[in-house]
Amino acid sequence: VVERILVSACLMGRRVRFDGRAKTLDDTLFERWRSEGRLVPFCPEVEGGLPVPRPPAEIEGGAGGAAVLSGAARILTPDGTDVTRHFLAGAQTALALARSMGIRVAVLKEGSPSCGSLRIHDGTFRGRVTRGAGVTAALLEAYGIRVFAEDRLPEAATHLQTLEATSS
Ligand code: SF4
Repeated sequence: VVERILVSACLMGRRVRFDGRAKTLDDTLFERWRSEGRLVPFCPEVEGGLPVPRPPAEIEGGAGGAAVLSGAARILTPDGTDVTRHFLAGAQTALALARSMGIRVAVLKEGSPSCGSLRIHDGTFRGRVTRGAGVTAALLEAYGIRVFAEDRLPEAATHLQTLEATSS
C-alpha cells in the first residue's frame, strides 16, 4: 500500500496564501513523495470560500483550532470580520477528502490558523506566535489523521514507513 499525503497547497507552489503567494517547499524527501504521486494538494481556506488575496486572519485569544471547532473561539480579520464559517467549511472539506481517499497522513504549513499544527498566531496581529494547532489540523488529528509540519518531514517519513509496513 502506498500511502498518500494531504499537503497544504501553498507548499506545492500554489499561490493560495492570504497575500497571494506560495510557500513552496524545496526538500528532497518532499520531491520524492511528489514524484511517487503521493501528494494531494489542498487549501482549506480557498476551499472554504475565501478569496486570494484575502485579509490575514487569526484565532481570537490565540486559542487552538479545537476551541474553534467547539464554538469557544472565533477566527477574525484585523477589522474584526468573523470568517470562522469559512475555516470550518474548509476543515470539513479537507477531512472529507482525506477520508474518501483513505489518507492517514498530512503535511501542513506551520503557523496558519488552518494548517498550523504546532504553532499559530496569538490573535493580536503583531506577528507573535503561540503553541497550538489550526482548525484543519485539529480536525484531522481528531479523526486519527497524523499531521506533520513542513519542517518535520523525517518524522512524517518514519510514520509513513510504519503505516506501510503494518498494512502490507
Ligand atoms: Fe497554505 Fe493552508 Fe494557508 Fe491554504 S490555508 S494558504 S494551504 S497554509
